[in-house]
Amino acid sequence: MRPIVLNPLFAALTSLSGIGPKLEKLYARLLGRDDEAARVIDLLFHLPSGYVDRRNRPKLSEVTPDTVVTVEVMVERHRPPPPNRPRAPYNIDTCDPHDDTHTLTLTYFNARKDYLQKLLPEGETRYVSGTTKLYDGHLQMVHPDRVVDEEGFAKLPLIDPVYPLTEGLHPNQVHKAIEIALERLPDLTEWQDAAWLKRNGFPGFAAALRSIHRPADVADLDPESSAWSRLAYDELLAGQLALALLRGRMRARPGRGTAAEGLLRARIIKALPYSLTPSQQRAVADIIADLAQPNRMLRLLHGDVGSGKTVVALLAAATVIEAGRQAALMAPTEILARQHFATIKPLADAGGIRVAILTGRERGRERPEVLAALAAGEIDLVVGTHALFQDDVAFHDLALAIVDEQHRFGVHQRLALTRKGEAVDLLVLTATPIPRTLVLTYFGDMDISELREKPAGRQKIDTRTLPLERLPEVIDAVKRALDAGRRIYWVCPLVEESELVDLAAAEDRYKDLTKRFGGILELVHGRMRGPEKDRAMRRFADGEARILVATTVIEVGVDVPEASVMVIEHAERFGLAQLHQLRGRIGRGAESSTCLLLYKAPLGDAAKSRLAILRETEDGFRIAEEDLRLRGEGDLLGTRQSGMPGFRLARLEIHGKLLSTAREDAALALNRDPNLNSPRGSALRQLLYLFGRDEAIKLLRAG
Ligand code: ADP
Ligand code: MG
Repeated sequence: MRPIVLNPLFAALTSLSGIGPKLEKLYARLLGRDDEAARVIDLLFHLPSGYVDRRNRPKLSEVTPDTVVTVEVMVERHRPPPPNRPRAPYNIDTCDPHDDTHTLTLTYFNARKDYLQKLLPEGETRYVSGTTKLYDGHLQMVHPDRVVDEEGFAKLPLIDPVYPLTEGLHPNQVHKAIEIALERLPDLTEWQDAAWLKRNGFPGFAAALRSIHRPADVADLDPESSAWSRLAYDELLAGQLALALLRGRMRARPGRGTAAEGLLRARIIKALPYSLTPSQQRAVADIIADLAQPNRMLRLLHGDVGSGKTVVALLAAATVIEAGRQAALMAPTEILARQHFATIKPLADAGGIRVAILTGRERGRERPEVLAALAAGEIDLVVGTHALFQDDVAFHDLALAIVDEQHRFGVHQRLALTRKGEAVDLLVLTATPIPRTLVLTYFGDMDISELREKPAGRQKIDTRTLPLERLPEVIDAVKRALDAGRRIYWVCPLVEESELVDLAAAEDRYKDLTKRFGGILELVHGRMRGPEKDRAMRRFADGEARILVATTVIEVGVDVPEASVMVIEHAERFGLAQLHQLRGRIGRGAESSTCLLLYKAPLGDAAKSRLAILRETEDGFRIAEEDLRLRGEGDLLGTRQSGMPGFRLARLEIHGKLLSTAREDAALALNRDPNLNSPRGSALRQLLYLFGRDEAIKLLRAG
C-alpha cells in the first residue's frame, strides 16, 4: 500500500481548485497521461523549459520598446470597441502615476469588458508586466502577461518560469495550478544518503521542486542546478532500484529449461529471402543458450533501427514453440503491433506456427475467440500491445515474453507479462540510441546481445540538406522518384507547443502534394483513430499509395522496405537521435535511398552540426555519442528535447554521469537491506512510488 503521506501527490488533478473535467483532459495530454488520469505529482514533475525575466522594472519614461518590462501605471480611461465593430481591439490608456506625460496603451483582443474593468479600474494604480511595442509612435502592450495591484506586485516573481504547453492551456492556468500543487507538497523523510547530499550541495526533494518552480535566479532553472540534479538523481536511483529488484527476482526464482532441436527455426530461416548477419546469428545463439538454461532469461537485444531485431525475436519464439510452449510479442503501439504481425505472419506460416494478434482493438467476437485459443494452447505466438497483459488474458503455457522498444514500457509492464506463465523468460528489444559506454548502466544488470552491423546489401543513404526555399526543386525530385517507381515518406514536424498548428501544416502539405500528384497520397498523424491510421499505412505498404505524409508517428519501427525517399521538413527542429530514427525508415531495401533534410535558414550552430553529422554517418552509436557531445555543449533546442528515454526529469547529456553512482547506490542499499525495511529502506519505498516504480515493491513482499 502506498504510504498515506504521499496521497496528496497522487490525488487526481481535478482535486486542485480550478481544474475541471475539461482542463483535466488537456493536462492529461500535456503530461503524457493519455490513458490514465493525471495526478498532482505529474504536474509537479512538469518542469519549466525556459523563463521570462521580470527583473527589468523601469519607469515608463525609460522603457525600451520590444523588451519585457514591469511598469507601474495609473489607469486613465477604458476605450472599448465601438458597438458596430465588436472585433476591434479594446484599448486602455494608462500613464506614469507620477508624470502623466508618459503613457502606455494596454490592448486586448476579444476581451470581456466586465473582466477588464475589474482588473484595471479607472483611476487606480496597477503594475503590468509584458512586452512593449511602439505602435504609431505610442508605447503599447498587447495582452500583458501579468496585471497586479500593490499586494500582487510584492509577490510577482522576478524570474517567471515558462512551461511547455498544449493547445488550449493558457500559461497563467498552468502557473496557478502548479502553485496550488506546490502547496500540497508534504515534507518527506529523506531517502538519499545525508553525506552524499551534503557533498553535492543537493537540497531536499520538496525544496528542489520549489526552487525550480519558483526560481529566485535564472540559474535555478538550469538542468545542471543542484535542485534539478537532485531530482534527476532521485529518478535515476528509483529506476536502478526497480531494475535491481527485478533482476534479483528473476535470479531468485528458478526458470525452466526450454530446448529444441531447431526444426522450426530451420524452416523459418529457409523461408527468409536473405541470410542472417553474423550478429543476428550470435544473438540467436545467445538466446537459445539462455532458454535452455534452468535460470530465467533477462536479455536485452540492442540494435540500431533497421538492424533486423524482429527476425531474431521470431527465431527465439520458434524455439519455445517447438518445445510445445507459447510466446508473446508486445509492441508499444497499435501500428507497430500490426506491422510485426504482418511481417511475422508469412514466416510463421512457413514454419507452421499459429500466430494471432491481440490489441485494444480486437473486440466483439474476435477477442473471446483469441483468448480462448490462447488459453487452450491453440495459438503459439501472440503479437499485441499492452492489451496482452490485461487480466482476462491467460496462456496455456507462456514460456517467452518479448517486449519491443522497451523504453516506452515500465518495469511493471514487463513484469505483468512475465507473470502470465511459469518462469517466463524475458527478451527486450530496443533501438534506444545510447552510447555503448552507457548501455550497461542504463539498462541495469541485463544480459545484452548487440546487433552491430546492418543487414548485407544495404546501400548507403544519400543524405542532403536544403533550405526550405528550395521546396520546388524538392518537389521536382519527388516527381522523378515517383516516375522511377519509388515510394516516399514526407515528414512534417510536430512540436508540442502547438499541436494543432503543426497538424494543420501536415494537412496543408498533404493537400498541396495531392494537387500536384493526384490521389497517390496518404496522411497519418497522431490524432487519427487506429483503423484509419492502419488503413493509410497499409495502402502505403501495399504500394497503392506512393507518398506517405506523416507527422512523427512513423518514427518508431515502421517497416516498408520499398520506401526509398524521405523528405523531412524543418529538420532543424528535430533532435539528432530523432532524425536518425526517422531516416532509419528508408535504406531498408536493396535500392539506394535518398534523404532530403529541409531546414529553415538561418541555421544555428548546433542545428548546423546536427545536420552535418547526419550527412556524414549512419552509425547509430556514433550519432548517439555525437548527440551527447553536442547537447553537452548546451544547445537550447537539444536540451529541451533531450529527456532521457523513459525518464521525466533526468537528461542523458547532463545527468548521465550520475547513472553509475545511482546503480552502485541501489546495489548497496539492497545489499544491506534486501527488503527495504530499515528507515532508509522505507524512505526508498516512497521514492519508488514517486517515480511510478512501485510495481517493484510487490517483488519485495513476494520475497
Ligand atoms: P529493427 O531492428 O529496426 O526492428 P527490422 O526487424 O524491422 O529492424 O528489420 C528491418 C528490415 O530488414 C526488414 O525489412 C527485414 O526484413 C530486413 N532484414 C532483417 N534481417 C536481414 C538480413 N539479415 N538481411 C537482409 N535484410 C534483413
Ligand atoms: Mg523493430
